[in-house]
Amino acid sequence: MSRVIAIANQKGGVGKTTSAVNLAAGLADQDKKVLVVDLDPQVSLTLCMGFREPDKLDHSITEVISAVVNDDELPEGFGIIRVRDNLDLLPSNINLSAAEVSLVNAMSRELVLRTYMEQIRSQYDYVLIDCMPSLGILTVNAHACADSVLVPVQAAYLPVKGLQQLIKTTYTVKRRLNNNLSIEGILFTMVDRRTVYAKEIVSEVNEVYGKSIPIFPIEIPMSVRASETSQMAKTIYDYDPKGKAASAYSELTREVLEHGC
Ligand code: ADP
Ligand code: MG
Repeated sequence: MSRVIAIANQKGGVGKTTSAVNLAAGLADQDKKVLVVDLDPQVSLTLCMGFREPDKLDHSITEVISAVVNDDELPEGFGIIRVRDNLDLLPSNINLSAAEVSLVNAMSRELVLRTYMEQIRSQYDYVLIDCMPSLGILTVNAHACADSVLVPVQAAYLPVKGLQQLIKTTYTVKRRLNNNLSIEGILFTMVDRRTVYAKEIVSEVNEVYGKSIPIFPIEIPMSVRASETSQMAKTIYDYDPKGKAASAYSELTREVLEHGC
């Protein structure tokens, strides 16, 4: 059975895309068939996967959304690029912003991505959706078609208020659109355990949410090597296989595998 995980936090720069790339690669290395969907017009995931000129790609999530809105039939595998064994990408491009605006008047606008996901999910063990930093209609679409939401939280600023908003959205979507939705877990990213601040934030989030929401035991450490992977378009396992970020992402992969399916 396939599992669809939305990676979401309306704050930018918290490690959503980095986590999508490395969790996807980790799952693919464990012989799972994985699709990653770039649902951000800033195209970071598409770039990180090595596609330097997203506007030159023939198709993207933008055309997929338009096709569903227009009730057009999509050819099999439309827009999907094979990145390597077990790992496919549905890229994004800048026009996704316009597609988001066009959704406003679409019928069942919150369920457009779900209609698509129902067509393709059986081909994969995992589909990871890298959301944009907002709680707009595309992020709601991701929630409406996902089995769970993975929430990266950067342990470097006070995240509690933002988290409340995100969790409220998740539960609203669950109640109104997608009964199956759960929270996969809060994932602390860019954790620098040498700072008092990071420790305080981790313990505050644990205190406020620990009883009601799963929190991944593994934390992703702050790592210069990890920050370099985005520019190098490499996974952390290829770029710094023996580093602490690579072993943290391997552990995250194990934890996600244990949760699911
Ligand atoms: P988001 O998708 O939430 O906007 P990104 O994954 O793009 O966040 O990460 C934001 C920035 O932080 C990027 O420049 C990325 O390279 C960097 N980064 C991600 N993870 C780490 C980490 N563990 N340590 C240090 N820098 C990181
Ligand atoms: Mg991103």
